[in-house]
Amino acid sequence: MTFRSPVSEYEFLLNHIIGFDRVAATERFSEASDDMVSAILNEAGKMCDEVMAPLQRPGDLNPAYLENGVLRTSPGFAEGWNAIAEGGWIGMSAPQEHGGMGLPMTLTSAVNEMMSGACLSLQLAPLMSQGQIEALDHHASDALKELYLPKLISGEWTGTMNLTEPQAGSDVGALSSKAEPNGDGTYAVSGQKIFITWGDNDFAGNICHLVLARLPDGAPGTKGISLFLVPKYLPDENGVPGKANSLKVVSLEHKLGIHGSPTCVMQYDGATGWLVGKEHGGMAAMFTMMNNARLGVGGQGVGVAEAAYQQALAYATERKQGKTPSGTIADHADVRRMLMEMKADVFASRAILLSCAQAIDMAAATQEPECAARAAFLTPIAKAFGTDTGIRVAETGVQVHGGMGFIEETGAAQFCRDVRVTSIYEGTNGIQAMDLVARKMMDGGEMANRLMDEIEEQAERARQVYPNMAEAVWQACESLREATDWLVAQEDLQNRFAGAVPYLRAFARVLGGHFHLMAAMADQGGAREKLARFYVKRMLPEHAGLLQHAQEGIEGVMALTLEELAN
Ligand SMILES: Cc1cc2nc3c(=O)[nH]c(=O)nc-3n(C[C@H](O)[C@H](O)[C@H](O)COP(=O)(O)OP(=O)(O)OC[C@H]3O[C@@H](n4cnc5c(N)ncnc54)[C@H](O)[C@@H]3O)c2cc1C
Repeated sequence: MTFRSPVSEYEFLLNHIIGFDRVAATERFSEASDDMVSAILNEAGKMCDEVMAPLQRPGDLNPAYLENGVLRTSPGFAEGWNAIAEGGWIGMSAPQEHGGMGLPMTLTSAVNEMMSGACLSLQLAPLMSQGQIEALDHHASDALKELYLPKLISGEWTGTMNLTEPQAGSDVGALSSKAEPNGDGTYAVSGQKIFITWGDNDFAGNICHLVLARLPDGAPGTKGISLFLVPKYLPDENGVPGKANSLKVVSLEHKLGIHGSPTCVMQYDGATGWLVGKEHGGMAAMFTMMNNARLGVGGQGVGVAEAAYQQALAYATERKQGKTPSGTIADHADVRRMLMEMKADVFASRAILLSCAQAIDMAAATQEPECAARAAFLTPIAKAFGTDTGIRVAETGVQVHGGMGFIEETGAAQFCRDVRVTSIYEGTNGIQAMDLVARKMMDGGEMANRLMDEIEEQAERARQVYPNMAEAVWQACESLREATDWLVAQEDLQNRFAGAVPYLRAFARVLGGHFHLMAAMADQGGAREKLARFYVKRMLPEHAGLLQHAQEGIEGVMALTLEELAN
């Protein structure tokens, strides 16, 4: 089965659903004309289908490995990286003054999603660089920017991010890596980091690590953390990689999936680093990188869901079993149900992802706090629902294949294994949901309510054409509003946290209904209308149970003691 990038789907979403015309109407993104957007999506799609997709299985079968301390990447990955770099896809949204294209994040998100569907392991490499480019652009000194940004953007060098330590996972503030001033403006960085994605490779001239560490006078917790740029090779006076820095890859993790993506244990022994941002301001700088990566990881989920759906559909329309009109399993009601659910959720999660990216672009172009608040609110939903959709759709894809889904040769199982990590890294989905109900509701639920106003206004407009569908979306939104009010009223945050995951999922379900309804309006009598009816009647109702769960509070969750849990 060959992967085909869903270019026309992005075009539909940009033109009819997420309001990309507003982005293109801004001065900052005025170059993003219809023709340009179409050319970019088609060109990226070609690269994904022809160069990256053929690397998906070889990467799984031939994981990256260490040979005498030298990291060897999967066959074909170096050529794949070169194609990504030469196409300019790493620096699509990077600043033009440093060699980037300055394009909207919405387009980068679409391209990143295609790359993830084609080969998730390789796509992680440009995603890490993109996050680093954004963090340096916002927080680094001009000298660091001038040296590093052009090389990261061109793909000559690659970037990583180093937060996690054995005792500091979700609790980043527990990290123990240290940085001591060298007295010449540089710092000596020491410590061990684990789970570092693309911590090394054999195709870039230098690997640039962004490392969180604590200065001697850094307070405990997240407030005392600083961010350092620590390159594998120290650039000489001409910026050319010279002496090796005091750091190394100790080992590679053996993982459930994404075998082509080396996940490294890194050791820093007084490695020379440069401060990025202010002393003790590391978390602020890192958040720039993490927000970018959160959206990117949401896109990974959607991309793998797309690929798993394509694969399942192709299998279902060929596999003959039982008596059906076409002779294939695709005409069995239960198989068709699975295919419909997969397709409906790929659309919903993609629409949420791109509308979040659109808000990021509007915030960048207009500097309006409202747009930034919208982007911040949608980010955890885009991350968690995108990745949950990836996991569910890939798992359903295995079921569509029957026994062949459990056999590695079909590739259905690889999607399941690869995508599983996406709900874990970049802040687990549980942490995303807590962020949504706590930090993102510090405005008393204002942003949530504004989004819900939009959903209801749109449902009102759709009533004339689709009274039943519009009413269902409107009612679901009202229930969401009630649950939001209940959450906001809970002063004990534990009451919010206990139901945070179901609440986030319910919000995504309602947003999905909203976007499906818009799609139906844009395609009256067409396939999108039929898919919207399926979603609204059969998938949207899930919100009711989720919201009931969300409003039960902490008590029942803690009802069993740890002893009772164990017996
Ligand atoms: C393949 C892979 C690649 C990775 N790449 C990178 C990378 O490039 N750079 C990097 O720095 N890190 C990376 N990570 C690390 C990743 O970000 C962490 O695994 C993740 O943040 C979770 O931390 P943890 O594994 O320590 O789990 P823990 O923090 O121990 O969490 C275990 C469980 O407890 C829950 N939990 C923890 N704290 C709370 C809380 N306060 N409230 C509620 N629930 C909580 C979690 O949601 C989870 O369900 C990677 C991990 C993997 C597996």
